[in-house]
Amino acid sequence: MPLIQAPRGTYDVLPEDVARRGALTARATEIFSAAGYHRIETPVFEATELFARGVGAATDIVQKEMYSFDDGGGRSLTLRPEGTAPICRAYVEHGMHKLPQPVKLWYLAPFFRAEAPQRGRYRQFWQVGAEAIGSAAPETDAELIVLLAELLAAMGVAGTRLRLASLGTPETRSEYREQLTAYLHAHESELAPEVRARIELNPMRAFDSGDPGTQRVMAVAPKLLDQLAPEDAEHFAAVRKLLDVTGIPYEVDPALVRGLDYYTRTLFEFTCDALGGQSGVGGGGRYDRLIEQIGGHPTPGIGFAAGVERILLAGSAQPIATPNVDLLVVVSDHERPGALSAGFELAREARRAGLSAQLELMRRSLKSAMKHADRLGADYVAIVSGVGETSLRSMATGEQRELAIVNVIPTLLRASRLT
Ligand code: AMP
Repeated sequence: MPLIQAPRGTYDVLPEDVARRGALTARATEIFSAAGYHRIETPVFEATELFARGVGAATDIVQKEMYSFDDGGGRSLTLRPEGTAPICRAYVEHGMHKLPQPVKLWYLAPFFRAEAPQRGRYRQFWQVGAEAIGSAAPETDAELIVLLAELLAAMGVAGTRLRLASLGTPETRSEYREQLTAYLHAHESELAPEVRARIELNPMRAFDSGDPGTQRVMAVAPKLLDQLAPEDAEHFAAVRKLLDVTGIPYEVDPALVRGLDYYTRTLFEFTCDALGGQSGVGGGGRYDRLIEQIGGHPTPGIGFAAGVERILLAGSAQPIATPNVDLLVVVSDHERPGALSAGFELAREARRAGLSAQLELMRRSLKSAMKHADRLGADYVAIVSGVGETSLRSMATGEQRELAIVNVIPTLLRASRLT
């Protein structure tokens, strides 16, 4: 039979990878909890409409990257490509506006995008993110940027670059968009064909282009940052001032664009050159119109998402503690009546007593069971030869003694108290 492989762009988290992921979960829990953020989990799939309206119909995500399917009853569902729209939906659906504001939430979960797979870019990937919903104050923006910086630092992601911009309001943006569209049309012949094709659909993406001709045109293009309304410019200045106090270095980048339409005002992104082509580690921004867009009352919000795989790729290796094995139970004669159940029970009782205990499951010979105990790094081996009969061997000293099976666990507990 031909081998069935995992779908392209997915990967298995093998047991040896779990420890570093666990370290990320632990660090994220510490950092977010200390700042009063609570973890939330939303469903893996949502109504397609949520992303079409929330993320924006013209975005790459909605146009090309969503895994959408019919639920069998004529409704279109989509595997979530991002976390903010679902969390805003949950905020509205559960009446979280009645809670003390802002509602501060964080998540660590898998997301799905039909992208061309490469190193650091997958079709199922994990994001860790946070949202603060209900406050428009610039200190909320600065707080989230700081939290992401702390998480990256805690995971040993070094050499990051933080870029910052403000998009102002949708009104400013749409005036600017007209101006930029006109500018792009005036320079059409100098633009890359794919940029030319998207002038009307999404002119801001021209700033993203890697094409040298397009880059020359964009270097002198009109910038949104120069056209912000006074209150938006003030908000942006307040965010920057708080960041200046923290000493976290950043660059204001008027050309910063991100692939989601819901952003207003503050926009930020951390990149890490060590990641190569897929250098974005995490980013986010304010989305003051999103909740209204999906049917709630006007409510400001801001959040970020960072890629778990990219944090792990760019982060320093965390020391992986090999799990301790206190006891390996080896049944030396499986034919002997009662021996197997005695050994089976011993392993179970040892675990209930708080020890880490394994039963040898391959029915190895005594000699190769000892080798196996060595590989596992087990402290003790209990060789069960019959009901009530055991020898306990210390792997450290090689000393072996006979004792009644009921005395094995008390002996180990005494030994573990002594060390
Ligand atoms: P976005 O939701 O597009 O702003 O992405 C936020 C972060 O998620 C990025 O900076 C990446 O670190 C990560 N990310 C986004 N898409 C992918 C993907 N296809 N595979 C792996 N990580 C991703």
